Amino acid sequence: MRSLSLFGATGSVGQSTLDLVRHDAASWQVSVLTAHSDVAGLAALAREFQVKLAVIADPSRYDELVAALAGTGIEVAAGPDALVDAAKHPVDLVVAAIVGIAGLAPTMAALEAGHNVALANKESLVSSGALMMQAARASGATILPIDSEHNAIFQCLTGSSLEDVRRIILTASGGPFRTKSAAEMAVMTPAQAVAHPNWSMGAKISVDSATMMNKGLELIEAHHLFPIGLEKIEILVHPQSVIHSLVEYRDRSTLAQLGSPDMRIPIASAMAWPRRMHAPCQPLDLTRIGRLDFEAPDEQRFPATALCRAAISEGGGRPAQLNAANEIAVAAFLAGKIGFTAIVDLVKHVMDHESPVAPTSLHDIFMVDAASRQHAQILMDAHAHG
Ligand code: NDP
Repeated sequence: MRSLSLFGATGSVGQSTLDLVRHDAASWQVSVLTAHSDVAGLAALAREFQVKLAVIADPSRYDELVAALAGTGIEVAAGPDALVDAAKHPVDLVVAAIVGIAGLAPTMAALEAGHNVALANKESLVSSGALMMQAARASGATILPIDSEHNAIFQCLTGSSLEDVRRIILTASGGPFRTKSAAEMAVMTPAQAVAHPNWSMGAKISVDSATMMNKGLELIEAHHLFPIGLEKIEILVHPQSVIHSLVEYRDRSTLAQLGSPDMRIPIASAMAWPRRMHAPCQPLDLTRIGRLDFEAPDEQRFPATALCRAAISEGGGRPAQLNAANEIAVAAFLAGKIGFTAIVDLVKHVMDHESPVAPTSLHDIFMVDAASRQHAQILMDAHAHG
């Protein structure tokens, strides 16, 4: 039996992870579950999986969680520091599935404690990739990517050396607006943006997929996880989301990983690594799918990937700045405060008008993050009143 802690249990990746545990209950002991504010959801899961510790990130919900778990013997904690402490809890695997920069501190704590981390929380790696990779190296922890593209690359690299890799090709579905013009995109609503054609995901990553910022963030993720040089990582639009990414070796052999677009498949691969586990997912039926299509990305209509490339090329605090501005912009779009195309415009504006300090610590990353959020907010307020 293996033990796991799951950060972001009430989210889309969290639910998929727990579904896998339900199907293989004899093999897993869930020790820690966390959520942000969904007390009812967290308490129900904590009871179902008989966890040792349940943490609610919003400290104002502590009493509610205590009441919801009264008489169960489950320990309860609240607040960002409690998340960090929970990440040090001794387990075989930490699943990092919080959305946004809020996942960074617990993920770093888990890596520093030497825990293997199944990583979905891409914003932490985007903002703080160098520090995270360094922490993993220092403690001997392994980062097992859950993002389907990086999980595919990780699988295609098994048994091989990065030195032999000529190219990594990150596939992208193109999102719900793949065929839309810039003018059509400008009037798209949050409901239309979160309606992803292939994947069922949380709201933030769904909007990121629609702007293609998600692919840009993934480019930065890949740059840290598989350091072969940014110029050797390419993006290929593949609307069916069946090939999850490809690795081309110097002998021109190209390996790809395929599967139905179901997050339980990459999650199962990370959970069971270096072995395999049963996943209750649809088998890949290529006869039914019939054809696979590919297109070059269009950076005129979707400028986010170019911004991400520029951010990682410049390095320093740029990726953290970009990530923070994007989080603010996506939240504003989802709240109906700005239009769809204003998301990437806002990120670009912040990057054009502020040079972040080069971070050397987590503290510095949080400073860059806060400054970028504040800048994005000021720009939005000025726009709203202008
Ligand atoms: P969801 O929005 O569905 O879930 C987010 C989870 O994080 C919830 O448990 C939420 O708690 C918790 N959370 C939110 N804000 C905070 C906070 N400030 N502090 C602590 N916990 C918080 O997101 P997804 O599951 O879609 O995505 C999670 C991560 O995985 C993201 O980084 C995303 O990019 C990545 N990812 C997701 C994929 C997917 O298919 N969904 C695919 C690949 C990567 P509560 O419910 O209480 O709000």
